[in-house]
Amino acid sequence: MASFPKAELRKIPSIDELLRSDELSHAIQEYGRSNVLAAVQQSVEDVRQQFHEHGSIDLTGNPSGFLAGKVKDELAQLTTITPTRVFNLTGTVIHTNLGRAPLPEEAIAAMHLAARYPSNLEFDLRRGRRGDRDDHLEQLICRLTGAEAATVVNNNAAAVMLSLNTLALRRKVLVARGQLIEIGGSFRMPDIMKRAGAKLHEVGTTNRTHAHDYADAVDRATGLIMEVHTSNYLINGFTKAVPTCDLAKLAGEHAVPFMVDLGSGTLVKLEDFGLPNEATVADVVTAGADIVTFSGDKLLGGPQAGIIVGRADLIARIKRNPMKRAMRMDKLSIAALRAVLQLYLDPERVSAKVPVLAMLRRPVDDIQKQAVEVLPAVERALGRNGKAELVSCMSQVGSGALPTAEKTSAGIGVKTSAPLAKLSAAFRQLPVPVIGRLTGNRFVMDLRCLDDTQTFVDQLEMLTVPGRSAGQ
Ligand SMILES: *Cc1c(COP(=O)(O)O)cnc(C)c1O
Repeated sequence: MASFPKAELRKIPSIDELLRSDELSHAIQEYGRSNVLAAVQQSVEDVRQQFHEHGSIDLTGNPSGFLAGKVKDELAQLTTITPTRVFNLTGTVIHTNLGRAPLPEEAIAAMHLAARYPSNLEFDLRRGRRGDRDDHLEQLICRLTGAEAATVVNNNAAAVMLSLNTLALRRKVLVARGQLIEIGGSFRMPDIMKRAGAKLHEVGTTNRTHAHDYADAVDRATGLIMEVHTSNYLINGFTKAVPTCDLAKLAGEHAVPFMVDLGSGTLVKLEDFGLPNEATVADVVTAGADIVTFSGDKLLGGPQAGIIVGRADLIARIKRNPMKRAMRMDKLSIAALRAVLQLYLDPERVSAKVPVLAMLRRPVDDIQKQAVEVLPAVERALGRNGKAELVSCMSQVGSGALPTAEKTSAGIGVKTSAPLAKLSAAFRQLPVPVIGRLTGNRFVMDLRCLDDTQTFVDQLEMLTVPGRSAGQ
């Protein structure tokens, strides 16, 4: 574009000039001089780079205004609070990308205390000496699961990794072929096994595994028999899996420990929530599993955590593994998990107190009522640019818990003349971004997880509804 490239470069104001400009003097007050200086240097560098790559630069007529704008954008970006709150109206209750389980107030209060003050995290107040951070949780977990002993790590992936590494290092682990799952891309059972130093030995076929498949494979090199909850898929049709209690018995006969990775793991009976029956952690312990691993932030409804329960001698070995230190839970999560587990002590009230359970249990007519209440605000926000209507939809549990279970729900479907991608982007740009679901030709908001109607309705006034030709 420019016929005299050097003259073009001279259009870039000097760093001093920019720092002295009115536009940036405010920014210096807000963000501090060194932050602004760094951002100015970066922006000038970017523009120079652009010149060298394209032979021209675009400063849109007002170079110092343009650069100051860039600087302010970058500083704002650096200093916004994130992760930021969003509305999860996707219909997936435990949504990994949206932070999984929202915590109960009791857990938030406990986290606040642990965050704000020094605490007895690893200090035995009675004896006045060093304590163990697991002590805040072990007794409660044992009480709720019927297990002899328990320990905790960062997440269930770590729980599986640590258990395998402790119990089956350089030894064979028997797993049914149909249970060699992948969860969310980066967690693939065969890869985890390899990294944990265990030797995977597949038994059975994809759809059918018999007790004799395990019995034939077990030998002196076998360190572990493992059952993996096929969290995110279902094998249907001509299938057979060996029941947990039979596998436990078989493992016992061969004196090989038996481990179950439950994935989500629930402490309550799911039939009470209108969901298909699933073995609780206590059921699996009773069935004879020596080690059970499960997540803190899936169906349990707590913070990210990996919980390992089982035989005291095996848990003691797991706790002694030096890798445990690299996977230990932090104090905020410990505080939150303890508070959530305490809520489970009262089975009558737990489903009202733990948000994940409350949302799963929410009756559809309650959700419908909310949809009727919210609809006029959505219609008002759309004006003549779109149409909103009540829709019936299906919520899912999510996060690999009960992959095929669905619960009838209700919500609002929105149509505009603009492409759906533009419409959903507009909802994402609200002060509290609204994340919905695209189904067919509609943007659907499933209201099962909407617990703050007022904030949702209030901010709809700020919705910029895209028109037919918007933004292309
Ligand atoms: C979800 C899941 C995991 C991983 O648990 P995180 O808490 O996400 O680390 C492991 N195994 C199974 C079967 C799962 O469903």
